[in-house]
Amino acid sequence: MSALASSSHLSLPQTSALELDREHLIHPVSSWRAHEKRGATLLQSGKGAWLRDTEGHELLDAFAGLWCVNAGYGQESVVQAATEQMRKLPYATGYFHFGSEPAARLAAKLVDLAPPSLQHVYFTLSGSDAVEAAVRLIAQYNHARGQTQRRHFISLERGYHGSSFFGAGLTALPAFHRGFGLPLPEQHYIASPYAYRSAVGSDPLAIISASVAELRATVQQIGQDKVAAFFCEPVQGSGGVIVPPEGWLKAMRQACRELGILFVADEVITGFGRTGPMFACEAEGVDPDMMTMAKGLTSGYVPMGAMLMSDEIYQTIADGAPAGVPIGHGTTYSAHPVSAAVGLEVIRLYEEGGLLANGQAMAPHFARVLANLADHPLVGEARQRGLLGALELVSNKQTKARFDPALGLADRVFATGYRNGLVFRSFGDNILGFAPALCFTAEEFELMAARLRKTLDDVLDFAD
Ligand code: PLP
Repeated sequence: MSALASSSHLSLPQTSALELDREHLIHPVSSWRAHEKRGATLLQSGKGAWLRDTEGHELLDAFAGLWCVNAGYGQESVVQAATEQMRKLPYATGYFHFGSEPAARLAAKLVDLAPPSLQHVYFTLSGSDAVEAAVRLIAQYNHARGQTQRRHFISLERGYHGSSFFGAGLTALPAFHRGFGLPLPEQHYIASPYAYRSAVGSDPLAIISASVAELRATVQQIGQDKVAAFFCEPVQGSGGVIVPPEGWLKAMRQACRELGILFVADEVITGFGRTGPMFACEAEGVDPDMMTMAKGLTSGYVPMGAMLMSDEIYQTIADGAPAGVPIGHGTTYSAHPVSAAVGLEVIRLYEEGGLLANGQAMAPHFARVLANLADHPLVGEARQRGLLGALELVSNKQTKARFDPALGLADRVFATGYRNGLVFRSFGDNILGFAPALCFTAEEFELMAARLRKTLDDVLDFAD
């Protein structure tokens, strides 16, 4: 047992939070050994698009925390909504037919905002358990309609659907599979609509028809009556911000309808104004069978996710259960009243507070920040939709060759950005991800442009 593991040390003032973190806190999706060596960067406060760390550095957060703080930090009305709800009723179970007013109001609000088929809401604590709820209730749906052989799921290469057990298998990123016994035999992937590196070139129509053809072929290969659903993100986030051509989502939705399989839109990142409209599906008039969401739902102030389902799925499941027998899916904190009160206030800020409109008005500024860097020697491609974007760094612009991972460039770019007062995501394959809050101003985008160019210039000196 280490010295720090003794509880008597925990109250000693000289035991810094950094030491305690290093000794005891397991960080999500991290190299544990690298973290022990590096230690944590402790964040202390935030206001608008700005963060301050415990050493006093002021940082422009161009990633909205983890693409979630869409409303920006320090929104007093959200704090007030949470406080009032905590005072009044900090917890109400959804079991035993109990409930709370904010949860019912938020469910109705989401139904109002979401595509028309989606009529019923199950609240979760995160995106991962929203995906897990979708998977489990799809099984229940197929059980109810006597099609239990539909056990196979298709998702996209580089897709991210969280880290629950089944969801991590829908996720198509190696770190989520290695050593976890994933993917399962009933989990299948088709190619991403990744224009920059697509085998069919960058023509939008070619990419769309290739995706549709591969989906059809995969379904035929598995057996059409064995496939339950196709899951996709309208813009792939954690796989490197892969922006499909316009029309792709609609074509995939239509293909699923023709194939008789469910279409699940995972809007955990793309929801709540991230790509422009409230939901990315809206831009193409896509009406999915199920939708998952989290992040921007509460703008990260408190944990909450949601899974929405069509009335057809809901009625089938409800009719399929013997009278009085519960559908065994639920968690203690589903539809938590404090999270729901926060969600209602955050959505009010998007709508009545003008944040959704501001995000839409600012998107061209963001697009310019990225596009103006496309000529930088390190940048292979700049891509973006709404306030979600990426710069893909390459060692050779002609061949699109990636940097040797042994160079550790991703960590260096992140650290250099941080030193220059800018926070963004730096993926292992040298894609830089950006998701500024919807409250960003034109001046903040100018500052972001300057800090980002300086960061790339500094890194170029190293890469040379
Ligand atoms: N689905 C998508 C598309 C995501 O981007 C994420 C998280 O980034 C998840 C699911 C999982 O959400 P969470 O991290 O809240 O579990």
